[in-house]
Amino acid sequence: MKTFDQLFSDENRDFNAAQASASSRRKFLGQLGCLAGTALLAGCGKGDSKEQGAAGSAPKSGRLKIVTTCGMVTDIVKAVIGEEPADVTGLLGEGVDPHLYQPGRNDVQELQSADVVFYSGLMLEGGMQRVLEQAASKRPVFAVTDAIEKSYLRTPEEFEGHPDPHVWMDVSAWNRCVGFIGEKMAEIDAAHASAYRKNAETYQKQLTELDEYVKKVVATIPKSQRYLVTAHDAFGYFARAYELEVKSVQGISTQSEAAVADVNELVSFVVEHKIPALFVESSVPAKNIQAVKEGCQSKSWTVSIGGSLFSDAMGAPGTYEGTYIGMLDHNATRIAQALGGEAPERGWQGKLAGTTAETAKEMK
Ligand SMILES: [Zn+2]
Repeated sequence: MKTFDQLFSDENRDFNAAQASASSRRKFLGQLGCLAGTALLAGCGKGDSKEQGAAGSAPKSGRLKIVTTCGMVTDIVKAVIGEEPADVTGLLGEGVDPHLYQPGRNDVQELQSADVVFYSGLMLEGGMQRVLEQAASKRPVFAVTDAIEKSYLRTPEEFEGHPDPHVWMDVSAWNRCVGFIGEKMAEIDAAHASAYRKNAETYQKQLTELDEYVKKVVATIPKSQRYLVTAHDAFGYFARAYELEVKSVQGISTQSEAAVADVNELVSFVVEHKIPALFVESSVPAKNIQAVKEGCQSKSWTVSIGGSLFSDAMGAPGTYEGTYIGMLDHNATRIAQALGGEAPERGWQGKLAGTTAETAKEMK
């Protein structure tokens, strides 16, 4: 049997040959994701004595160093850690697109000095796969989406059999990842096991309530208007969980450029279904959605921009929208209001920074 490194170099050769075609590249990334997932899982298994040694050795400072990737993962890891003696460092900040992110020297150093690493997985962090794999040789490295059964994952046709990575958009699915982190932390740092489990449970209760809120407000959108038109396909899980239909200009990864034909097709769809609002995303350039808006105008259908949704990155650190709960509250509230449904002006907990009317004004 080949080792991961042998497989990786084979894949790498194929990759170089396939550079010319975006679809081959996506396919390659998909294959690599499966390989890397398997290797990382093997590396994180309980039976590996080398792994156990790394995981079991107490950190010199007395505090565990946990490194995470995107904000959605960082936030739920922090919720599980709570007041326990561990520091959580997230590598990808506000507005950063994880599909395109390439790790720098600083990221590699952070990963190499970590006691534990949590990332999202399913190839969301496509450019980080190699450094995550390297990190996994010396410490436990977990993809939080390993918590979700394969049968629950979306595998859209256009992504050539690879699962859709945007799992956090379905609150009940992300909730399972919280429980997974709680269990992994309890194994790694047994002295604080009960605290990790309790923190996870408390946060999971909040997410269950958030899930109810999202269901409730999206259900107020008239059936004929339940179309979510966005820049890239980040909302597939959201649509499935909360009963909307999603249309996007770009595919699942932001790596592919939208074609003119895609834009035209979407314009016809929006006009035909009299969709009142389109959405832009915080981590994806708005130009494609602007092109759809202008296309609709040329066909005498005025469509507004219902606001900017958080798709693959959260809002500014220290703000409500800079948390996972705030991100989902913002998205659900904006979507419900802009598509003719009802939601509280400032969201689930009255904490949203702006209102939909204010955003619509800004985006005109
Ligand atoms: Zn995405």
